[in-house]
Amino acid sequence: MSAGRRSSVFGKLATIMAVMMILLMVITTGFFVALVQPTLHGKMDPGTAHLWLLVLSLSLLFAVVLTTQRVLQKLLRPLRDLNDGVTRLGEGDLAVNVPRTTRDEFGTLTDAFNRMAGRVREMVVTRDQLLIDVSHELRSPLTRMKVALELLPNDAQKTRLTGDVAEMERMISGLLELERLRAGKGVTLLRQDIVPIVREVVASYEDRPPGVELVLNGVSDLVLDADAAQLRTVLRNLLENAMKYSLADSRSVRVTISRNDRSADVRVADDGVGIPSEDAERIFEPFFRVDRSRSKESGGYGLGLSICKRVMEAHRGAIVLEANGKRGATFILKLPIHD
Ligand code: ADP
Repeated sequence: MSAGRRSSVFGKLATIMAVMMILLMVITTGFFVALVQPTLHGKMDPGTAHLWLLVLSLSLLFAVVLTTQRVLQKLLRPLRDLNDGVTRLGEGDLAVNVPRTTRDEFGTLTDAFNRMAGRVREMVVTRDQLLIDVSHELRSPLTRMKVALELLPNDAQKTRLTGDVAEMERMISGLLELERLRAGKGVTLLRQDIVPIVREVVASYEDRPPGVELVLNGVSDLVLDADAAQLRTVLRNLLENAMKYSLADSRSVRVTISRNDRSADVRVADDGVGIPSEDAERIFEPFFRVDRSRSKESGGYGLGLSICKRVMEAHRGAIVLEANGKRGATFILKLPIHD
């Protein structure tokens, strides 16, 4: 096919249909002609001849149907590739690029999809860059505000303003940390036993209601590649949330460590308000909060879980929200174990 010349899916389909029809007509005509061939009756008894004709015709029919199915499968392959691409994009894989293999309408559709994915990628990069630039730019005025606040008399207004400035500082640090963790930056992996790390963080929450218990599922040590400081941050984020969103009558939070074949699981399960299933997909997005008023009261910005996700990805692991019943939330940290 010459460069720039386009073929059409409809044209290909029409050709396949036409070839199939002609072959079917040839087989059927051949069948009837052979059926009435007197010479055939002379050589073979009519019963056997008809049986042979039937078997031959059915085999030819089967071969035609099979070939058509193969050709159609090949023809519709770009559609399957596009379907995979759309699924991957839907799952948040912005690097997706579907290879263009045909010059027909599917090829045009593939190009359009790749252009759209590229545009989404650009928009996300621009948005992230804007957030980082704004966060950096806000640091100097915030420092100046803090200095100016020191000069104000100690009254209710100063306390309020100091609280607001501290809140803005926390949000900006969270955003800059989120950016630092992108693409595995900001994490130094060292081979170490993570059980003492989990034990230490859990111990620091023992006195907070509703309490916390550590369950070691037959695990005494778990040696894997981890960044201890970042792992502590993740566990603290999860335990803070578990405590924050617990109810007056909630059972204590349960932290369970278990070992699978090639990974270690650390589960943090609470018995609090829970997370509606329709929010489960968005819970790890920056600034996502289930109930904005509720989170605002408890001082959250919706950055904690997105930081946890980035840290776990930098460990080549994952964080998963387990579907719960009506009450409580369970987060599972999955860390790979390499020998
Ligand atoms: P925040 O700082 O607002 O808690 P996170 O990223 O840690 O931000 O959490 C995002 C949102 O997920 C929270 O605002 C809260 O609505 C919900 N959430 C997180 N953990 C829990 C939990 N253990 N129980 C119920 N809701 C939770």
